[in-house]
Formats: sequence, structure tokens, C-alpha cells
Amino acid sequence: MSGRVLVLGSLNVDLVTRVERHPRPGETVAGEGLARLAGGKGANQAVAAAAAGGSVTMVGCVGDDAEGDAYRSRLEARGVDVSRLRAVDGTPTGTALVQVSDAGENTIVVVPGANAEPDEREVAAVDDLGPGDVLLLQLEVPRTVVCVAARRAAGRGARVVLNIAPYAALPPDVVALADPLVANEHEMQALAESGSRPASLLVTFGANGATWDGVTRPAVSVDAGDVVDTTGAGDAFCGALAAALAGGADREAAMDAALRAGADAVLREGAQADPYL
Ligand code: ADP
Repeated sequence: MSGRVLVLGSLNVDLVTRVERHPRPGETVAGEGLARLAGGKGANQAVAAAAAGGSVTMVGCVGDDAEGDAYRSRLEARGVDVSRLRAVDGTPTGTALVQVSDAGENTIVVVPGANAEPDEREVAAVDDLGPGDVLLLQLEVPRTVVCVAARRAAGRGARVVLNIAPYAALPPDVVALADPLVANEHEMQALAESGSRPASLLVTFGANGATWDGVTRPAVSVDAGDVVDTTGAGDAFCGALAAALAGGADREAAMDAALRAGADAVLREGAQADPYL
């Protein structure tokens, strides 16, 4: 029987508009169009794991607002269990305010909102896990919560897949228990500089595939001209990897499934298939 994938992490709404040029301090400019996109590494990875056939639970916090409700319905429609999603009063659903200029430069203000709220209540969801299950983590929710959840899951015999993104230093015991710790090239560099040593390290190299403890698999080849948007490739990779591992795949098969999901992600806009919230 397949194990479960529990994702403890962030959910974000990205509000994206296009501007001719970015405003200077004190200035107002008009934005053209307004897209509301589903994001947040936690939810991106949960959706990817469900799309890969995993039995997935999303654990995290949204605001007690329309965006939070919309996100809950969205995840449910994609087959993700939302029974451990908590709506927090008096704080907004995590939001990124994104302005894309005609020159192609972005300015982004991130409001963590409810993503700062996960606490012991969310960690408690890990108590349902056991051998064969996977806890999938990233670093867009409080680091202490990530560390406590990782230790508790490992203590219960579950596998911890830890995507060290966005990069932050972690205690050596947490780095050591990840199986694997997933990093892109920049995160791997930062990790190496910190002197931390993962017991199991999987590095993604974009179009050059990925390497897990010395085993390298090539990327699924995509024509450069077909690449639409690389946002969320790493998230698709991690979600599919976790689903494959929970399904009993060995390392090579799990990497191949993840590489396929990563390649699919660069062919479409946004971090999730049909990203509009
Ligand atoms: P991140 O998105 O976190 O920066 P990468 O750029 O390493 O991470 O991409 C993650 C994964 O997405 C890669 O391992 C690969 O599977 C896939 N991927 C990214 N870019 C490409 C590409 N140009 N062609 C094929 N696969 C890609």
C-alpha cells in the first residue's frame, strides 16, 4: 500500500499586474490587468504531489478571508486533503504583490500573513505519520515549526523530504535527518558555505537534471523556445518526488518522475497547472 504525503508549508496568493515602469517612492503609476495566482511553495508542492498520484494532506494556515476560502476549494478540487488547513482570524492569507515592468523586471512585496502562524497545532498533524509515509517541508513557514515537525516525523519512522528553499540555515541534526534534502544550485552553494552536511543530498540543476548522492539523471529535454516560465519547476519536482517515494519508488524512478514534473512545469505559466485562483 502506498504511504501518505503530508506537506507542512505555505500558501500564497500572488497578485500580479503589469506596469510601464516601476513607481518611484511617493509616486503612483497605473497597472494593467490583475491576475490572482495560486502560489506558496507548500501548496505548489502539495498540488504537484497530488497530480503525481499521491495521497496528499496540506497542513498550514490561511487567513479567515475570501482568498483563504478560495484556496481551500482549489486544493480540494485537486484532490488534496484540506482537513488540516487552519483559517486564522485577524491575519490575511499570505500574499505576494508583484509588479512586472515592460522591461521584464519584477518588484515583489511579500506579506507572510497566515504563513507566519503555523505552530504546535500544525506540528501535531505529523503524529498521524509512520513508516512508508513522507513529510514534505520547505522554509516559507516558521523555521522552529519545520524543525520540530522534521524531528517528530523522523522519530515516528516517516521519511522527511526537506526542500531548503528559500535558503536558511538549519540545525545540523535537521539537515542530517532529511532523506533527501533537496536544493537547487544556489541553495547547495549556501549550504556548502555554512558547513552543514546532509546525509542525503539531492541537487537540481535546471536543464541539466539532478544528482542524488552521486547518482545523476538527465533532465527531460525541453526546447529552449518552448520554455514559458521556470517559476515553480523546483516545486513540481519536489511534489512529484515525494509522491513517488511514498508510492514505494526507488531513487532512480522517483528522480525520473520528478524530472518529468519539473520539465512539464517550465512549459506552462505560473507555479501550478491552471494557476488562476
Ligand atoms: P528551481 O526552480 O528551484 O530553481 P531548478 O532550476 O534546478 O530549480 O529546476 C528544478 C527542476 O525542474 C530540474 O531538476 C528539472 O527537472 C526541471 N527543469 C528546470 N528547468 C528545466 C529545463 N529548461 N528543461 C527541462 N527541465 C527543467
